[in-house]
Amino acid sequence: MPIIRYLPFSLLIPLLGVAQSPALERYTFTEPHMGTTARIVLYAPDESSARKAAAKAFARIAELNLVMSDYNPNSELMRLCAKAGGEPVPISADLYDVLEKSLAFVKVTEGALDITISPVVRLWRRAKRTREMPSEAEIKQALALVDFRNIKLDSQRRTAQLLVMGMLLDLGAIGKGYAADAALAVLRKHGFPRALVALGGDIAVGDAPPNAKGWRIGIAPLKNPGADPTHYLLVTNAGVSTAGDAEQVAEIGGNRYSHIIDPKTGIGQIGRRSVTVIAPNAMMSDALDTAVCVMGLDRGLKLIESLDSVAALCVFETKTKIVTAQSTRFAKLLVTDR
Ligand code: ADP
Ligand code: MG
Repeated sequence: MPIIRYLPFSLLIPLLGVAQSPALERYTFTEPHMGTTARIVLYAPDESSARKAAAKAFARIAELNLVMSDYNPNSELMRLCAKAGGEPVPISADLYDVLEKSLAFVKVTEGALDITISPVVRLWRRAKRTREMPSEAEIKQALALVDFRNIKLDSQRRTAQLLVMGMLLDLGAIGKGYAADAALAVLRKHGFPRALVALGGDIAVGDAPPNAKGWRIGIAPLKNPGADPTHYLLVTNAGVSTAGDAEQVAEIGGNRYSHIIDPKTGIGQIGRRSVTVIAPNAMMSDALDTAVCVMGLDRGLKLIESLDSVAALCVFETKTKIVTAQSTRFAKLLVTDR
């Protein structure tokens, strides 16, 4: 959720009469999408062209939501799930692409991220509403349907087959990052590469604003998302995502169970965690922030260190204290002059 805040780091363009191209102004547009606020910031010579490009980018997000949503029973994803246990199903290029890329991350994270987690996620969504723990039997039954190896993709025929009846897919850990990248690509295609797209806590940034080295992005403190950021990053052509339990928790018996679930146990995570990942794109940062939450500090940071051009900041609350740890590359992205 939006526990990241972003502040474009721009300076006024000095117009000394030598500028060849028109001065670029900063424009911001917001619309509700994917259960959160989608925000587009772009630099353009005039409002009308900025607005047109932003509208196309928002439309792309809406289009992808119709492909990926697990809240909408008519989404392409849910229509595929309705055929679980049956024959391979022809799917759109978008759904194929996001499933293929998701499965690559499922493998990299050794199953900490598993897009077949949906039956368990749904139990915890119910628990959030009713404030009652799912029973052990329910968790066991739901976990029996969780195994990414039961998704078969065929690139030649562009089909997907879900091998077990009752299987359900959930792209919640990845979809917003994927859509942010896609929206940024639309802005770039329309001639606006100096842009940022944020979908809640998942942000895709393009080229730097005029006369700036990058986009300045603030990371809010774990316990107070509205307070001043604890860190500022300066990034270009990257994805920045934060996962954690700032908002989505089930409070039962004095414990806070996160909406991030360990596929090994089927239990929502207890204890506040916030993981910010910076990666070459937002799908990658989105996939990895959730995975590191599941994997924990040691395994999670080891994974981050092993990947090119990826950095992370982890803030985990234990019973007695708050532990902050960062990967080696993280410090290089920090803004030191506030
Ligand atoms: P958000 O930005 O909405 O907080 P996250 O990137 O933190 O999203 O992902 C959380 C979502 O991912 C959950 O709501 C759920 O749909 C899904 N999810 C939870 N645990 C897992 C998991 N182990 N593997 C894959 N997806 C998960
Ligand atoms: Mg994520």
